[in-house]
Formats: sequence, structure tokens, C-alpha cells
Amino acid sequence: MLISLVVPCFNEAEVVRRFHAHVSREIASFTPTFSERLTFEFVYVDDGSGDETLRHLRCLAGEDSRVRYVSFSRNFGKEAAMLAGLRHAGGDAVVIMDADLQHPPELIARMITLHTQGNDQVVARRTRAGDRVTRTLTARAYYRFVNRLVDVELVDGVGDFRLLSRRAVDAVLKLTEYNRFSKGIFAWIGYPTETFAYENAVREQGRSKWTFGKLLNYGLDGVISFNNKPLRAALYLGLLLLAVAMAYTAWIVGVAVVNGVETPGYVTLLVAVTALSGVQMVLLGVVGEYVGRIYYEAKRRPHFLVGETDADVPRHDPETN
Ligand code: UDP
Ligand code: MG
Repeated sequence: MLISLVVPCFNEAEVVRRFHAHVSREIASFTPTFSERLTFEFVYVDDGSGDETLRHLRCLAGEDSRVRYVSFSRNFGKEAAMLAGLRHAGGDAVVIMDADLQHPPELIARMITLHTQGNDQVVARRTRAGDRVTRTLTARAYYRFVNRLVDVELVDGVGDFRLLSRRAVDAVLKLTEYNRFSKGIFAWIGYPTETFAYENAVREQGRSKWTFGKLLNYGLDGVISFNNKPLRAALYLGLLLLAVAMAYTAWIVGVAVVNGVETPGYVTLLVAVTALSGVQMVLLGVVGEYVGRIYYEAKRRPHFLVGETDADVPRHDPETN
């Protein structure tokens, strides 16, 4: 059985070699314990790093015949990097993991075991131990909110660290949307899935690429990219406001008929105008989000452009030369 390890790397020069050494050691230690013969390949995806990541990958490919890599022409984001990795992976099963050693390589053996027991997806769910309280709480609130909206079930702590069987990978590759929200995509394809929890390791070196703004946008993607319920909600909200406005109008007219016309009331007017225009802007924004997405999908651009792959460098493979 061939297992592909797909590793997106963006500015990971400080850790990528250590990652490779660590994972190699780990693989070597557990491979003999499996009854089935396991072989591995590493598929590194350099997501347009500005540092020495690509140079390290070239070296690794030269030193280790199991290493393959794809390098993007610029930074296309982790979603695109994972997609590229999945496309290039030839394994009977694929494990996606981060280059920063936050996904413990010790868990790979467990994933493979669970896979051989008939699971198409084996998911490592990280506990939020060690996270800041604010982050934990926002995450919890977010997932509660989002799961009401989306049709698929999203689980807090479930990230991209997972094993996919060949048919699961093929299913993921069939979803060709431009706006990729992997959490949703993995949940959408289904197939027998097994989840287990692990404690997240602290990032060894380098720093997280997630800024607050990026997280916010990612959260919004989760809500919007997987269903049209926000549009439906916008419609209902509009109808509700319309009903309220009609009732209020009726009341004002009634009062005017009974008491005659009074001049005061311009505060009400101002509040109504500003509040309603605010609501309209939000609703327009919701619609705009979808239109924007359609625009991107309609362009049918490729998800990424490849600048270089391991096939471009001459190999000094002790086995073949
Ligand atoms: N990554 C990537 N492209 C990006 C940002 C991140 O390929 O534009 C990779 C990064 O190299 C790492 C993984 O995605 O292997 C997770 O990134 P990071 O550690 O910054 O995220 P966090 O662990 O904080 O969620
Ligand atoms: Mg990380």
C-alpha cells in the first residue's frame, strides 16, 4: 500500500527539513509493525514561499527518492496547495498534514490502522487545550452558529489533518469549485469517517499565517460558500421589516386621523431611515457575496499555477542510477 503525505508549505524554511527528518524517523519506526507492506511518498507543495523553502525542497528531492514537490508561481493559499497535493498524490491513501509539526507524525500509524479497518476518512480532531480562551470561545460560538446554517456538519477542532482513501481523494478532486472551503468539502463527500482527538502541539518555529482578518474571512467563507441559507434569511428579514413598516404606517395614519397631524416625529423618521438603510446594505452585501462568488466561478480560472516540480530537476537516485 502506497501512502502519500501531502504537505503544504508556505515560508516554512525553518522547519521543513526538521519535519522531513521527524516524519521519516516516525515512518521507519512503525512501518514494520504493519502486516501489509507500506511504502510512502512525500508530496510537498511550496505555496509561493518568499524564503528558502523551495531550495530545501529541491535538496530533499535530491537526497530522498520518496520526495516529490510542486512549487507555485506565487502564493495561492493553503486550499490551493492542498488541492495541488491531492492531484499529484498517487497513493492508495493520502495523509494531509502541516509542515510546522503541529500535526503530530506519531498519529499517522493510528490513521493507517483505522483506514485499514474500513474507514475512507480518518480525521484527527484537535482539542483546544493551550489555545487562548477568547479563541476557544469564539470558535465554539462560531460552530454552533454555522452548523445551523450549513447542510453539512462542521466540527470544531477538525482541521485538515486527515487521511483520505483513494476514492475519497477522487471525490474531492471532482469538486472543482474555485472557492474551496475544505472543511465543508471533506464533510460533503461523506464515506465512512472515523474521528479521534489529539492535543495540539505548539508551533515549533516560524509563526502562524492566520491573522484576525484572515480568520474572519475564513469564517465568512464557511457560512457563505456552502449553502444559500443566508440569502433565504435575507429574504425573510426583508419580509419581516416590510410587515413591521406596514403596521407602523397603519398606526401613524390611524393616529393622524384621530388626533390630527402633529409635527414632531422626525426622530422616528431619522431612526427608521438610517436603520433600514443599514439593513439594506447588509442584505445587499449578502447578495453581493454570492454574486462575487459566481463571478469567480464563471471565470473558470485554474486554482493555481505551477512554477516548478520535482520532474524539472535531475535526479540522483541511488536506486535508479
Ligand atoms: N500554508 C500554505 N499557504 C498559505 C498559508 C499556510 O500552504 O497561504 C501552510 C503552512 O505552510 C502550514 C499550513 O498551511 O503548513 C498551516 O499554516 P499555519 O501553521 O500558518 O496555520 P495554523 O496552524 O495556525 O492554523
Ligand atoms: Mg500551524
